[in-house]
Amino acid sequence: MLKVHNTLSRKKEEFEPLEGNHVRMYVCGPTVYDYPHIGNARSFAVFDTIRRFLEYTGYRVTYVTNFTDVDDKMIDRANRDGVAVSDLAAKFIAEYRQIADELNLKPATVNPRATEHIDDIVEMVGLILKNGKGYAVDGDVYFDVSELKEYGALSGINPEDLSAGARVDVDEKKQDPRDFALWKAEKPGEPSWESPWSKGRPGWHAECSVMGKHYLGIPFDIHGGGQDLIFPHHENEIAQSTAAYGEQPVKYWLHNGFLTINKDKMSKSEGNFATAREVLDNYDHQAVRFYLISGHYRQPLDYNDDALRQATQSVERIRNAVDSVRGRISILEKAGSREAEADEKLSEAIAKLSEGFVREMSDDFNTPGGIAEVFAFIRELNTLTPEVGGAAVLREALATLGVLLEILGLEMSEKKVGEGDSSSSEVLKGSIDLLLELREDARKAKNFATADKIRDRLAEIGVLVEDTKDGPTWKLK
Ligand SMILES: [Zn+2]
Repeated sequence: MLKVHNTLSRKKEEFEPLEGNHVRMYVCGPTVYDYPHIGNARSFAVFDTIRRFLEYTGYRVTYVTNFTDVDDKMIDRANRDGVAVSDLAAKFIAEYRQIADELNLKPATVNPRATEHIDDIVEMVGLILKNGKGYAVDGDVYFDVSELKEYGALSGINPEDLSAGARVDVDEKKQDPRDFALWKAEKPGEPSWESPWSKGRPGWHAECSVMGKHYLGIPFDIHGGGQDLIFPHHENEIAQSTAAYGEQPVKYWLHNGFLTINKDKMSKSEGNFATAREVLDNYDHQAVRFYLISGHYRQPLDYNDDALRQATQSVERIRNAVDSVRGRISILEKAGSREAEADEKLSEAIAKLSEGFVREMSDDFNTPGGIAEVFAFIRELNTLTPEVGGAAVLREALATLGVLLEILGLEMSEKKVGEGDSSSSEVLKGSIDLLLELREDARKAKNFATADKIRDRLAEIGVLVEDTKDGPTWKLK
């Protein structure tokens, strides 16, 4: 039985989708005005892992994650850089896709962009006004928080405590400082769309409400995002959807914890900041993915060199174990199988691994627990592999491990795990080619002793050199 922590109830709840076997899931995506930072990357990796586990347990998942391609940040940045908002968006959407690929995120079912849903937004804002939960002033439209008694239920923030200027924008057009913008009238140099109230653009919160409903209907099952989005963004999404459609939009609200850097809050102005790009450029991509999900998603996660070094070593340990198993399989394939006690032990360890991993992940997606099960298995695998007598159980070990690692977003396919292999085979090939070149040089210089020595020594290590009319070729014995 899967349990998930619901921010709305502040409890772990038994997970049951609203509609049979189908899980409908929305995760707030990036505002595409700048390079995503490592905290954003954490959110991407966490919800990708949650999605993968749901799929592994047999659910069909519709996964929607958006691009916020128009809002205040987009407009400020575009004006500062002297580029069109749409060009800024295109640049950072491409950047996001590259990072998504490097972090091995499964492609979303759909990546909607806010600007593709202006009609839906206008429609929702109209419904909120019609239902008496908002008001228009000079072309702007605001949500009237006083009209919604359950406002604050998600964040636990008492609306009465919200003072002007503290965590809400001050704006003299608002009837109440807690009210928030649904629609903003155009200012010079801003992108704008027609609406009944003004030529203008949507408020940020309105965008996610509408995209969630458009692709998933409401209510849907899971809404995810970083903890920093609980208030005001998600609180306001709930307010809008209940005001417009008369329904709570989401059954389970999931939020990932903050990412700190060297135990300090991430802050651009303090220089305590890392972009996902920098981190991916400095470390093995799989190690970065591993690091991002190495802590429980609701806990804070610290970014520091040590943590990334440890993640790199962990991934390396998995690769080494897999390589040894592959080596043992090829030996057994040549030598033939024999009975061995280790085979039975390994079979038991495989069963224990699957069971333990699923048990941990079913407890609110406890990735550190799941990872601990993987490493307990790796230790046993390393001990047993040299003693195993049959290739079949080793293949089963690799298959099981591969499936579970895939849930964590670690590709242990031949191609990726074998990166070590393929790079060493590149080195081997380059070295032999070089030796053959030197042999040719020696022959041209009539130094036949050296040329023969190279050929003979290569033959000793299993490389057969053949002289053809197109020059020498080689193959492994
Ligand atoms: Zn959102």
